[in-house]
Amino acid sequence: MTTSIASPFEYHSPETVEEASRLLSRYGGGARLLAGGHSLLPLMKLRLASPEALIDLGRIGGLSYIREDDGGLAIGAMTTYAEIVRSELAAAAAPALAEAAGEVADTPVRNAGTIGGSLAHADPAGDLPAVVLALDAELVARSARASRSIPADRFFRDFMTTALRGNEVLTEIRVPGQGASSGSAYAKLANKASHYAVVGVAAAVRVEDGVCTSARIGITGAGPHAVRSRRAERILVGKAPGESSIRAAAQRGGVELAGQFNEDVHASAEYREDMARVFTGRALAAAFERAMG
Ligand SMILES: Cc1cc2nc3c(=O)[nH]c(=O)nc-3n(C[C@H](O)[C@H](O)[C@H](O)COP(=O)(O)OP(=O)(O)OC[C@H]3O[C@@H](n4cnc5c(N)ncnc54)[C@H](O)[C@@H]3O)c2cc1C
Repeated sequence: MTTSIASPFEYHSPETVEEASRLLSRYGGGARLLAGGHSLLPLMKLRLASPEALIDLGRIGGLSYIREDDGGLAIGAMTTYAEIVRSELAAAAAPALAEAAGEVADTPVRNAGTIGGSLAHADPAGDLPAVVLALDAELVARSARASRSIPADRFFRDFMTTALRGNEVLTEIRVPGQGASSGSAYAKLANKASHYAVVGVAAAVRVEDGVCTSARIGITGAGPHAVRSRRAERILVGKAPGESSIRAAAQRGGVELAGQFNEDVHASAEYREDMARVFTGRALAAAFERAMG
């Protein structure tokens, strides 16, 4: 029988990250952190998740901000999509991030959902995982005793599985400065109803003296978790950007996922494979246009 009522749970609203981490330890895996609730609460209502306790991050001060940081950005984990969309800093320093946040779902979801919740949840169809991979972000995780920085490259481990430890809270996302003559963009094929990415591609490139000196591509929606598209990246570096190099790179878009493309009611594996190529081309074309514009 299906139900829309969550199992009973205890509720905590700590005022510090340390307290939240201690509570996580106390429940030994039985508790879940609550941010915007837009992924966790639907799972609980369907009883696909039945945590013993919810640890609400909403009363912890200082986790919601977007700051300039050494030419890049520091973003608090509780910053909502809507705040990112409204941020002139984000639009200037990381256009792909602002673009992706603006394409998440609808206004109510963007007003409540957080960047930290999106990354920690690691939904295979979530938008922001692809963006933090392309922007070479570092994700800061804190426990009661320690803090560490995890490169986005090492954060997404498997289907809805991240490098976060059981007692850690994701507190900050650091996006390095992308440098002069750089550009980034996000392009996605959205599910018509939910807007989740059937396939989403983020690209970040730099062009110096007419040559592409750096290219990073993150793909989401296509496989069990967001991945870098390294073989496509390698085609671009050292070449003058143009239609032929973008087309050649797009042909390699997502090849790392061979044999692992998602297959569900929204799209076949074959279609996703094809769309990974198409949207890699679109994201790259837009990123190069910004870099050289
Ligand atoms: C109708 C609908 C449409 C949607 N469409 C899209 C879409 O188009 N694109 C998209 O990307 N997403 C979409 N989403 C998901 C939405 O973006 C969620 O808000 C997001 O994935 C989770 O963020 P949250 O803040 O709501 O996290 P929550 O639901 O509160 O938490 C999600 C998980 O992350 C953990 N967590 C939260 N914060 C932290 C933290 N700081 N440190 C460690 N762990 C943490 C929680 O314990 C939980 O396991 C949609 C959701 C709905 C309901």
